[in-house]
Amino acid sequence: MKLLENKTVIITGASRGIGKGIALVLASHGANIAFTYSKSVDSANDLIKEMSKFDVNCKAYQSDAASFEDSQKFVDQVIEDFGTIDVLINNAGITKDNLLMRMNEDDFDKVIEVNLKSVFNMVKATQRTFLKNRSGSIINISSIVGIKGNAGQSNYAASKAGIIGFSKSIALELGSRNIRSNVVAPGFIQTEMTDKLNQEVVNQWISGIPLKRGGTPTDVANLCLFLSSDLSSFITGQVINVDGGMLT
Ligand code: NAP
Repeated sequence: MKLLENKTVIITGASRGIGKGIALVLASHGANIAFTYSKSVDSANDLIKEMSKFDVNCKAYQSDAASFEDSQKFVDQVIEDFGTIDVLINNAGITKDNLLMRMNEDDFDKVIEVNLKSVFNMVKATQRTFLKNRSGSIINISSIVGIKGNAGQSNYAASKAGIIGFSKSIALELGSRNIRSNVVAPGFIQTEMTDKLNQEVVNQWISGIPLKRGGTPTDVANLCLFLSSDLSSFITGQVINVDGGMLT
């Protein structure tokens, strides 16, 4: 059974990693996909080719999630191209890890802008459509680091914790209009973001996971599929971990 037939889904940062995994799983369930990327034009085009097998509409947009203006323009264009928006998945994110002692102001500001302000930008840009439709599902990709903190990631943890507070507030503001807002908090998921870590750090993370493996983009995507679909129509304001039990 296809869960998202005729639904239009926006995903920020889907040229690779978790965003790409979400795009593929949702498209396999019949969703039309409008996704953004920052620089990876070739990967974005490859993903469009890969999704052609699902017989859905799919379009890539180069758009900086950190920019309020870009986000408005992007959403206006999606409405023009697809007619409406049913689901917003805020996935774009970066890391600029360092101990506080060595972290400079730009490392802090940039991570907050791309990871947290982007969520504000995109929810602002899409809320009019959701209000008009009296329906919408907003899914914000945080991290277990936003729940428990992590040495060397104070900027990243702050941005991901901020997403949780923002998302719960939006759930309270927009619930009466049937607009849901939930947070997905992945644990250790193997993508280019984690490929930057050395093997010793990777082994350490994995040994602390009860299921004894790193997650895959598909693991995260399957939860996004559920939260995008009507199967989750009574679920809002929640933070759901996809972490192999790491935070248990
Ligand atoms: P990734 O492999 O580094 O991919 C990041 C994606 O975001 C790329 O598509 C990138 O586009 C896009 N992007 C970056 N900056 C952008 C901007 N300013 N505007 C628009 N798009 C932008 O990362 P990932 O591991 O898939 O992570 C995806 C999300 O999951 C992030 O929010 C991350 O914090 C979160 N997360 C990841 C893990 C993990 O273990 N991997 C764990 C917890 C949470 P380009 O390709 O053009 O650069």
